[in-house]
Amino acid sequence: MEKKDESFIFPMEDALEIIIIFDKTGKISYANSMARKKLEYEEGLIGKSVNDIFLNLFGFSENGIETDYQFGEQIHNLVAYRKNLTCFPVESRFIESADNPEMYICMANDILEKEFLNREIDTVRQEAQQALKVKSEFVANVTHELRTPVNGILGNVRELLEKAGDSEILKSLRLIERCCDDMNKIINNILDFSKLEAKKFTLEPRKFHFRNMLDYVKGNHINKTNEKGLGFFMTVSPQIPEYVIGDELRIVQILNNLISNAQKFTAVGKITVEVLKTAQVNNMIELFFIVKDTGIGIEKADMAKLFQSFSQVDASISRKYGGTGLGLNICKQLVELMGGHIEVESKKNIGSTFSFSIWTEICKEDVVSEKTYDVKTDIKVDSFVDDADDARIYGTKENQKNLNNNLSKLILCVEMENWEKAEMFMETIRQLTEGAPREVSRKVLRLKMAIQKENYDKVISEFGELNDLL
Ligand code: ADP
Repeated sequence: MEKKDESFIFPMEDALEIIIIFDKTGKISYANSMARKKLEYEEGLIGKSVNDIFLNLFGFSENGIETDYQFGEQIHNLVAYRKNLTCFPVESRFIESADNPEMYICMANDILEKEFLNREIDTVRQEAQQALKVKSEFVANVTHELRTPVNGILGNVRELLEKAGDSEILKSLRLIERCCDDMNKIINNILDFSKLEAKKFTLEPRKFHFRNMLDYVKGNHINKTNEKGLGFFMTVSPQIPEYVIGDELRIVQILNNLISNAQKFTAVGKITVEVLKTAQVNNMIELFFIVKDTGIGIEKADMAKLFQSFSQVDASISRKYGGTGLGLNICKQLVELMGGHIEVESKKNIGSTFSFSIWTEICKEDVVSEKTYDVKTDIKVDSFVDDADDARIYGTKENQKNLNNNLSKLILCVEMENWEKAEMFMETIRQLTEGAPREVSRKVLRLKMAIQKENYDKVISEFGELNDLL
């Protein structure tokens, strides 16, 4: 054992890092067991020069030790030489002893394994990327190959549908048509998912008529909602310009997905879709979509999983309702590509509300008139949709309608803890209740204060009381 002073050295002896002590001439006076092990000296390390270990790292002169590095600094790119002159990379630090100015301490860690691991990780990462590329190419090919025959069947079925007279045959053909449509949806979802996963997905923004787009979406779902006896309502803020620039196809896709889900999981009640303009920065506007249903709802614990790929709430639900569990993940990725977020609020057996924001551009000719609105006035104006004057008079039918409307938006924002927006709806409610009996105004004020304090529990109780009064 090459030890110098037992009491001083003991805690260092078994340290997991290499510890070497040397003097101002570089002569090593102590090396711990890790140093001896790593540098492969059974003996003979004491008395060697530190420059034998860290090749010519130091210069020694009358003025003391010189080196390019600072004492105390962590040095990442050094190599340490073993007795047999092979070497390995180390992370090291040299310090001057506080007790003895002529004594220097080196602490070093062998990072060969770390480097090796890093290299392994790089290789694994490259392999994974390559595998992902191969997989997405394979998925793209397979889905393309699948789409061709499905579309072939669909085309022929549609031709036969025009000719077929027999009602039984018609029924079967319609079923085949529906199966083909479903299959196309799955194929498209898989294709989108693999493109998004491989970061090969690009949006294709162009100018489109916003309300026509919504009419089209409504047309996609109206028959099914009617068939199920569900109400289906769509409202759009008048502050949204006629034309916007965005990827219409993808906005339709997100809405279709959310509305299809709402339909799928709702047996009684209604589905409502609402679109608001919530912000404007120069020629960019933020659109906020709310898709609400009165369906089976989702357990709180399951909500976090919803937007993950292949995630369905539970196996029994997927058996009953079908689906691949890709839809919401695709929606989330698309929404995020459009600069927004998607969120869900739900209560078991009460219903679910999916909301998402996206940014779209407005056309140059609309910028001047639109620019005058800011977030606050936009929502305020929005609350006085029609019959603005009537709406301002407390107690009129229009006023009640607007109040209810704003109260439900307010509570949605509170549930999503979007306090900023909640405050805006609150301000509208305050205006709509001007001239109301004192007990109402007082409750409104209390609710407003609770919102300003962002006190969720208080807001809920004040909200309930105000709602009862109204
Ligand atoms: P899928 O194609 O399987 O419907 P999604 O990603 O669109 O895939 O939905 C995933 C799961 O989220 C669904 O299987 C369902 O369990 C749940 N879910 C989605 N929307 C609703 C909703 N409106 N009401 C209740 N559960 C929903």
